[in-house]
Amino acid sequence: MKTYNVFKTFRFEIKDLSKTKMRDLNKTFVQAEMSFYKALELCKEDAEKMLLIDDKKERKSESFKLAKKLQAIVKPLPFSSALKSSVIEGVKAQVLSYVELTLSGQDATYPTKLDQDYDFEYWMDILINSCDVETENLARDEMSKSKVKELRPLTFEKYRTTDGFMILDNGDGRLFAFLNLWGAKDKRARKLEIDMVDTRTGEQFVKKTSTGLLLPLKCGEHQVEGLRNGQAKTAKLVKRGDRYFLMVSVAFEVEARTPEYVLGIDRGIEEIATYTVRDHTGKVVDKGSFSGVQLREHQRKMELAQKNNQRVGKKRIKGWSDYTTNLMHNLSNEIVKVADKYSAQVVIEDLTNIKNNPKMKRKTGARKSNFRRMLSRQQYGRLEFMLEYKLKSVGLPPAKDVLAAGTSITCPKCGNYDKENRLTRDTFKCKVCDYTEHADIVGAINIAGKFINFEAIKTKLKKGKPMPDEFKYNNWLKNNLTL
Ligand SMILES: [Zn+2]
Repeated sequence: MKTYNVFKTFRFEIKDLSKTKMRDLNKTFVQAEMSFYKALELCKEDAEKMLLIDDKKERKSESFKLAKKLQAIVKPLPFSSALKSSVIEGVKAQVLSYVELTLSGQDATYPTKLDQDYDFEYWMDILINSCDVETENLARDEMSKSKVKELRPLTFEKYRTTDGFMILDNGDGRLFAFLNLWGAKDKRARKLEIDMVDTRTGEQFVKKTSTGLLLPLKCGEHQVEGLRNGQAKTAKLVKRGDRYFLMVSVAFEVEARTPEYVLGIDRGIEEIATYTVRDHTGKVVDKGSFSGVQLREHQRKMELAQKNNQRVGKKRIKGWSDYTTNLMHNLSNEIVKVADKYSAQVVIEDLTNIKNNPKMKRKTGARKSNFRRMLSRQQYGRLEFMLEYKLKSVGLPPAKDVLAAGTSITCPKCGNYDKENRLTRDTFKCKVCDYTEHADIVGAINIAGKFINFEAIKTKLKKGKPMPDEFKYNNWLKNNLTL
């Protein structure tokens, strides 16, 4: 049986903390924060050095040296092993993000602890809640562009008491987190006898240690079930005002489903995207669009803000990048919802065109759309990634690409291929069979159709030989697809 591995993040609030524990915890946060920025400062010259290296391989070997240097920096610190590696990994990732951004020509500043900037908190939230590497990297990149305010989370990469964290059950359903926070000789070290159930194995866990704290967790059925069905992998402790939260990343195995339907998606003109669901005979069982209303409204506001900003000479537009990221999250969620409902294979246009610089001239025949205006090449890559991740989490395979050439002017009913079929921007009316439909929907029907076509003929194609005419999409669909 094929399975997919997916991660979900569960949030637990830490409750009923004694004053002593809270004081020790706060001190740990401040210490980790200071060490992070101190270490970051000490690595600034290494970052500048990396900027001068053209060769990727050489840069990589520099980053190994950086990790070694960081190990030496944190070694004498009064921390637990977990927090030492948290500082090392955090600084390394931040330095590399700065280097990558600067080398790609973006406006990055070497992060130092300064006064607050508007969207730092937003990206901090994303970093804390992210459950995939890509989103974490994105958040780090954005944080490199802004200044710093909140205390950084403490991260725990291993599930064990010696240098990580564990989630334990005291036997009557109350959950506790053990966090490795300091060395055994630290002033804060107090003897602890753990005798609880390990939520990961369900077995009794007995251990004496003094290198951390056992913290009571507040949680509902949702979190308990998450821990029961998955495996806790990593954790982040977050401080928000006087409250503490533990974000636990849990790994799940999801059974792979065999798609029964094909969900074709086209980027729209009116809406951000349209879709159709077809079965393998071609029958359209559902169609619709993913809302562009909010998008257009926001776009207007953004354009207005940009004009105002230009007037007063401000360079950056607040909230734009936040918006597109949210948009991609929403869009991918909407797509996955439909795919999940029909157990469908998602098919999208091969967006080689969109992946180019938006300022580049359109290829002949390529269409203008909101989608393209909204998403840069980099952002589109992220959308694809989010989509893959979210599809996996419902047991569905990643989206497949088809070439979109001709999909907006081919009649999905009779196969007639003619520019004149596109009556207006919005209306498709076939010159031969009078089939009429919204132009965006026709695109989505054909994108799904092209995939059905490809699946049917792919084994019949001979390598190095041109595709026989009867296999070409518009000819093939005449005899093989019914709407
Ligand atoms: Zn027709």
